[in-house]
Amino acid sequence: MESYILISYLNDFIFCPRSIYFHNIYGNYSKKNYHNEAQTKGRIAHKVIEENKFSTKKNIITNMEVYSERYNIFGKIDIYDSDNKILIERKRKIIKIYDGYRYQMYAQYYCMTEMGFDIQKLVFHSLSDNKRYHIHIPSKKEKQEFENVIEEIKSYNLRNEFKANKEKCKQCIYNGLCDYNLSIETCLV
Ligand code: SF4
Repeated sequence: MESYILISYLNDFIFCPRSIYFHNIYGNYSKKNYHNEAQTKGRIAHKVIEENKFSTKKNIITNMEVYSERYNIFGKIDIYDSDNKILIERKRKIIKIYDGYRYQMYAQYYCMTEMGFDIQKLVFHSLSDNKRYHIHIPSKKEKQEFENVIEEIKSYNLRNEFKANKEKCKQCIYNGLCDYNLSIETCLV
């Protein structure tokens, strides 16, 4: 297992801590093998950025690797606009700002500021409906929340007591692989 925490773990971990196990195992495996349709569309949305097709303007940085020594986290940002000091995370469709999204954004923010970038605004961009959602720079309380999640990930043990959530299992990209999957209806006839 890597010694650092991938920023993308944060959202997965908040969604379901067991998904980290699959994230580790299948992280380097072709995503076509387990991603469902919605996830694949999301991946294509990100591909535009990953191939740096988004912008050629000098003030726009896309798809940059970021790292925080303090938290030992590593990942990539989508877009940083240095003129306006905005960090932007694009997702295919945002219905609400889940805690996992926030922590992912905080992780990017802490990496970037540790690397010396000035960030004044944090924005999520929902591509399918072209909506933007602003969240504020983490307060002291939110920073503590974030640090608690990092500690939880570091100390998480798969043998910990665990209760699956059926609704989450239905949405889970790993449900075809997971023994705890509750989304499959059992036929008793
Ligand atoms: S299938 Fe359910 S229990 Fe298994 S990782 Fe996904 S959400 Fe968690």
